[in-house]
Amino acid sequence: MMNIKAAGNLSYYSFGLLEPWPELTYAAFTRHGGVSAHPYDTLNMSYTVQDDPERVKVNRERAIRAVGWDPECVVSARQVHGRQVVAVSRAMVGGPDLPETDALVTNEPGVLLLLKFADCVPIVLWDPKRRVVGLVHAGWRGTVLETPAAALELMRQRYGCHPSSVLAGIGPSIGPCCYEVGTEVVAAASTLFAGTTVIQQVDGSHRMDLWGANAETLMRAGVAEENIAVAGVCTRCHHDQFFSHRAAKGIAGRFGVVAGIRDG
Ligand SMILES: [Zn+2]
Repeated sequence: MMNIKAAGNLSYYSFGLLEPWPELTYAAFTRHGGVSAHPYDTLNMSYTVQDDPERVKVNRERAIRAVGWDPECVVSARQVHGRQVVAVSRAMVGGPDLPETDALVTNEPGVLLLLKFADCVPIVLWDPKRRVVGLVHAGWRGTVLETPAAALELMRQRYGCHPSSVLAGIGPSIGPCCYEVGTEVVAAASTLFAGTTVIQQVDGSHRMDLWGANAETLMRAGVAEENIAVAGVCTRCHHDQFFSHRAAKGIAGRFGVVAGIRDG
């Protein structure tokens, strides 16, 4: 379950599961409250979708200020549907988006991780014991590459996190209601998720449950089922609120999801 919050003319979703920790920032922004024009209207956070970069800059600053952070604290990435995870340090803030990276983790306060979405799955990870936060981008490719497990593995290696302590939130993204997939995806997912309801046949076509698939990956990696929250908000059904690649037939902005540990 998610809660919706307002900050000025911006609104964002957060998970009740993560709210007991005031030092933890997590926000999944909607598409509203920015300055970009159609088809990027209005809070597009991506520099790589042919939107005016000046507007994207304004959008990012607005969104980040709305959650009480300095835009200079952001670290983002050029997402490529891979399983590369980067451990982010404070020395990296304010730099260009990291190349070819789909997951970010950090234990350093004052670093705000930012990834961008339009149907792909945003997954936040939080270990309150080791005080480590992670953010993952997983479309179907990242899902079958088990990118959330790669992020958990780096959290373990680098910071000593145990998956049984980790809380996870699976954010707004295309739901099993709308995610029709072709034979390539079915072939890639059906062995990995055999015995689950991740791939289902509906009216002669296949649908994939990216939420269930990523929850399954997290559980296989040792995250407890009760520590996983699923937003259950489909971006294609709710493309009035979120950017949706499918609803916009490929030309869409990207909404931002941020996670970080507040300084001080
Ligand atoms: Zn839907």
